[in-house]
This record gives sequence, structure tokens and C-alpha cells, in this order.
Amino acid sequence: MKKLELLKKYFGYDSFRPLQEQVIDDVIAGKDLMVVMPTGGGKSMCFQLPSLLLDGITLVVSPLIALMKDQVDALRANGIPASYFNSSQDAKQQEEMLQELRSGDLKLIYAAPESIGLLNNHLQGIPVSLIAVDEAHCISTWGHDFRPAYTQLSYFKTSFPEANLIALTATADRATRADIKKQLGIQNAQEYVASFDRPNLTLEVRPGNNRLQQMRRFLKKNKDESGIIYCLSRKTCESIASKLTAYGFDAAAYHAGLSHEERENVQEIFIKDDLKIVCATIAFGMGIDKSNVRFVIHYNMPKNIEGYYQEIGRAGRDGLNSHALLFHSYADVIQLRKFADGSGNAEVQIAKLERMKQFAEALTCRRKMLLSYFNEYLDEDCGNCDVCLNKPDFFDATLQAQKALSAIVRTGERASLNLLIDVLRGAQNAAVMESGFQAIKTYGAGKETSWNDWQQYIVQMINQGLIEIAFHEQNHLKITPQGKEVLFDGRKVSLAVIPKPEELAAKRAQQ
Ligand code: ADP
Ligand code: ZN
Repeated sequence: MKKLELLKKYFGYDSFRPLQEQVIDDVIAGKDLMVVMPTGGGKSMCFQLPSLLLDGITLVVSPLIALMKDQVDALRANGIPASYFNSSQDAKQQEEMLQELRSGDLKLIYAAPESIGLLNNHLQGIPVSLIAVDEAHCISTWGHDFRPAYTQLSYFKTSFPEANLIALTATADRATRADIKKQLGIQNAQEYVASFDRPNLTLEVRPGNNRLQQMRRFLKKNKDESGIIYCLSRKTCESIASKLTAYGFDAAAYHAGLSHEERENVQEIFIKDDLKIVCATIAFGMGIDKSNVRFVIHYNMPKNIEGYYQEIGRAGRDGLNSHALLFHSYADVIQLRKFADGSGNAEVQIAKLERMKQFAEALTCRRKMLLSYFNEYLDEDCGNCDVCLNKPDFFDATLQAQKALSAIVRTGERASLNLLIDVLRGAQNAAVMESGFQAIKTYGAGKETSWNDWQQYIVQMINQGLIEIAFHEQNHLKITPQGKEVLFDGRKVSLAVIPKPEELAAKRAQQ
């Protein structure tokens, strides 16, 4: 049967989503692949449909044990023989599953990474055609959700030499993708990266003072719509939910401190539209397939852009206009900074938090900035974010941009943001002297611009995709192909005029 017929027969869909078809063709052709698609983009199809066309079994590794049973039930309901293997099953259930496996009828088997060692013994002698590693960023300490059990997967390519491997994730920057491929032993894997753009989401950032009252006004305007409010702590979820309830809104809390039943219940009534607003920690939403979420509010700032993107991505899956509202507060940044300091991977976490903060403070199109984080560059401003809808004044900053880019090139792309500004301003501090960059031609070429203005300009240039931060190389600044056009091909650069503090204060008072 042809791919499209299978799509219709087993899944009830008439056409493929972007990239699905190419990926499926390559999977069937036996290639190793690295696929990055946003949440809701349809990653599962990339291995579920091929499993029907392959002779052997498809092994799916997924960390989401709680969702495995539902996924398998859904496949079975569609007539696809699938099963799963994880620690939630008792010995009897596992034995039943193994029986099915040996009978050779199964097409797909889902397993948690922790269970792979055990399952591996039972897979001996069973032909495995394809291995799908879902949420593959979990294997990399550079990703944002490292799980030690994933490192066990590194022997896959050697244990199952006939099988090809597809790694899938919604969040992996270029360096993380390279790391995933290396660790899974698929260095030569073909990469597919779907567009991350979600044009139907209006992006907005507001200062976090008086958040509760701001939300109250927002919710009044969006009456009867479904939405999620993300908070940092369980306590905040509870208190926001009860305050909103007191204001007459239909809200409930969701966090890991609730019982399993309570959480299931909140999730279920929310999906059924019997509850409008969920005040949740980031635990909420993983794998939830609700299409009409009209807004996602970040009451607290997320710890990085990957998390932010994933969370706002739960709004507007039906393609209708939806709103992503982020409150930006320095208290949150300080709190998050403490968490990052205490984490195993502090340097990267702090750099990612810094980027999140820059996003919140940006004076350029937010969507451009968001997409540039995923190495995707928009030519035009989006017209659907708070910056685009309330444009700051711009000036021709080609000269400043050339100075900064030239300094990046002349420092051999080995300067961090702070050091680069010091070099541009001709500072004579220890960092500059140690680096030896006082000898380069652009040293002091940007004296006339203040330190803070340089910082804003460079952040804008990062947001415009002219400069990239190499998180995994001490946050050194690198020039992108677009940046090279500015230096060598006469590309012009406009940057936003930086508002004076008193202007900012006046603007905030109006909101
Ligand atoms: P992801 O894992 O990328 O977050 P899923 O695989 O869960 O996304 O797919 C999200 C939703 O899109 C599911 O409800 C799925 O059935 C649906 N879907 C997948 N492929 C298609 C398609 N070609 N046409 C329509 N819907 C699709
Ligand atoms: Zn915009």
C-alpha cells in the first residue's frame, strides 16, 4: 500500500504535514535521521507510518511513561499492533507483552530508556528494523532536559546493526543536534529541521509589576477562552488559581504536589472545556493535545527560550489567533539565576537564562528573535508581536554594526559580549589586556557609544541573526552568514533607538 493510502486508512488524514513525507521516505530507505519539529508538528507519524511498511519491529524510546499507554491504545484503536514496556507494568503484563513480541505480530514497541537494558535481552533474535528515539535532546547535557538513562542508548547502533535510527526532538539548537548525533553514533545522519514559526501566536512581553491586575484585565478581555498560566512554584499556582477564582474566573491549579487523581482530573476537565484556566508549573502540558488553547501566560519568566517556546506552543494548535503573554520581572531572573547556579551545568544554564532575559528586553521583533534562537531567520518583521505592533524608532546603524562585526572577526570569534564591548570602547581593563585584543584594528573604534547602548545594539544584532552566541564555546560571539553580508556585501542594518529611562517609565505607567 502507498504511503498516502496508509495515512488515510490507519490515521484518517488526507495529507502530510511539512517534512513528514521526506522524513518517512528516508526512514523507509534505511537512513539514519535527526528530526527537529516543533511540538505538535507530528513527529510520531515519522516512525509510526514507516513501521507499517518495514519487515521488522520498530522500537520507540520515550521518556513519557505516563503517556505510553494512551499512545499504544490509540495505535491499537487504529488497527496498528503496538505495545509498550516500562516500569509501570507488573510482571504479568510484561510477560504478556513479551509473548506478543515473540509471536512476531507486533509492529511497534514503546519503551522507557530505563527499561531498555532489560528489554534488550528479549529482543535478541527478533528483527528490529527501526529505532526511534523520541525526545532525543534528553541524551545531551547541552539540551535542557538531560536524563542520565538516555546515555544507555549510545550502544544502539552496535546492538542493532541492521536497524536504522531516527532521533526526534522539538528542541535542539545546532550544537545540541551535533551532540545527539555523536552520542547515538549517527554522525552522518541526515538532518531535518522544520520551521518553528507559529505565525498565529501573538507574542507579547510586559513588565511584571502588578501582574495580577494586568492578568485580570487580560482575562476579562478573553472571557470564556481556554488558557494556561505558567508559574514557577507550586505555591504560586495555588495562590493565583484561588485569587482568579475569587475574581470570578474558572481556574484551577496543577502541579506535582497534587495527587495523581487530582492532576488527571484537572487535565481531563480542561481538555473537555469544563475548566477554562489552568495555573500550572511546567509539568503541565507534556503531551496534551488540546487544539483550542487561546492563550498562554507566563506569570513567571521561563528559565530558557526552549522552555518558553515549548510552553507557548501549546496555544493555537488549531491555527487560530492565540496570545502568548510573558511577564518579565527582575525578581524572577534573580530566582532563576539561583536555580541555575545550583545546577550541574551552571555555565550553560546561566547563558540560556541571559538569552531569555534579552528576549524579554528586546526592542526588535520578538518572533525574529525567537526564531533566530533556533537558527531560523525571517527577512521581514512579523507584524504580530508587541514590538512590531508598537514600533520603536529605528535609525541606520550600518556603521555601528560594521564596527561590531569587524571586531568579532578580528578577535577571531573568541570574545564574549562583555569583552567585545570593552574592546570596541577601548577599555584598558584586565580582561582586555589578557586577551591581547588591544592590538586589533577595531580596538576603541566604538568609543563614542556608551557601554549600555553597545549592549543593546549587539543584542539587537543577535536578535536579527547577524551575530550568534556559541553557548558551548564560552559564549563567544560569532558572525553569521547574514552578518557577513553586512561586512562584505553592503547589507544595511537598522537598529532601534534605545529609549531613555524616563521615556520607558512613562510607557510602563500606561500599561
Ligand atoms: P509531536 O510529537 O511532534 O508533538 P504528534 O506526533 O503528537 O506531535 O502529533 C500532533 C498531532 O498532529 C496528533 O494529534 C497527530 O495525530 C496529528 N497529526 C500528525 N500528522 C498529521 C497529518 N499528516 N495530518 C493531520 N494531523 C496530523
Ligand atoms: Zn514582530
